[in-house]
Amino acid sequence: MRELARRISAARRLTIVTGAGVSAASGVPTFRGPQGLWKSFRPEDLATPGAFARDPQLVWEWYDWRRKLIDGCQPNAAHHAIAAWSRRPGFALVTQNVDGLHERAGTQHVVRYHGSIWNLRCATPCEAGSREWEDRTVPLPCVPPRCPHCGGLARPGVVWFGEGIPEEAARAAQAATACDVFLSVGTSSVVYPAAGLLVEAKRHGAFTAEINPESTAAAGIVDVAIAMTAEDALPQLHRFVESE
Ligand code: NAD
Ligand code: ZN
Repeated sequence: MRELARRISAARRLTIVTGAGVSAASGVPTFRGPQGLWKSFRPEDLATPGAFARDPQLVWEWYDWRRKLIDGCQPNAAHHAIAAWSRRPGFALVTQNVDGLHERAGTQHVVRYHGSIWNLRCATPCEAGSREWEDRTVPLPCVPPRCPHCGGLARPGVVWFGEGIPEEAARAAQAATACDVFLSVGTSSVVYPAAGLLVEAKRHGAFTAEINPESTAAAGIVDVAIAMTAEDALPQLHRFVESE
């Protein structure tokens, strides 16, 4: 932890990648965890274009349920520690989370790698193209919701399994791999291409670290693996950096 704090304190460019584990203490269930279940469906079977094509009603009921759940959650100590770092020059946060809790904690320069659960867009798409709109209504008055432009089906503005990363987010994340310290927090590091960012940062000569209470696919690659929860490790790390 001290070594990582020294590296962060000396870094000109700090990049943090977060996954569902960062929001676990806020009460947002992770996908690969014991509470990651909804009506005995697996998220991997619902968060796909195929599932939406087969049964948009079912997929939207699941998203509406998640939106309600997230709406009642607050950012935790991990989000706040990251928000404090985000005011440093050379900082970048790439999050796989769609919950918006980093933004609610006041984090600047957030790259939303997998979109936002609060955004919708036309599923067709119509003349509105891939333009998204924000809708924070909880619960949604009509499920599945409709595109205001063409009246067709709307879909969540998130990246599903098997879909590509939005171009601008992919470019920003790629650029952020050119850093001095790369810290991966609360992600199982199995979902590509997010997991590849760590390898890319290493190739650029970054000092790499991971915070996750469980051992992950990245544990053997990083310079430092801290086996702690994000909400315990990050505030402590923040204090160490402050005292450097
Ligand atoms: P994941 O569910 O695959 O993995 C979560 C990881 O967090 C695990 O490795 C687990 O050991 C770790 N973890 C659990 N509690 C933790 C804690 N308190 N502190 C630190 N780590 C903890 O999540 P993923 O790797 O982010 O990938 C799944 C995809 O699902 C993401 O890309 C994301 O789009 C989506 N998702 C988002 C949310 C959200 O927005 N909060 C929640 C679930 C899934
Ligand atoms: Zn439309």
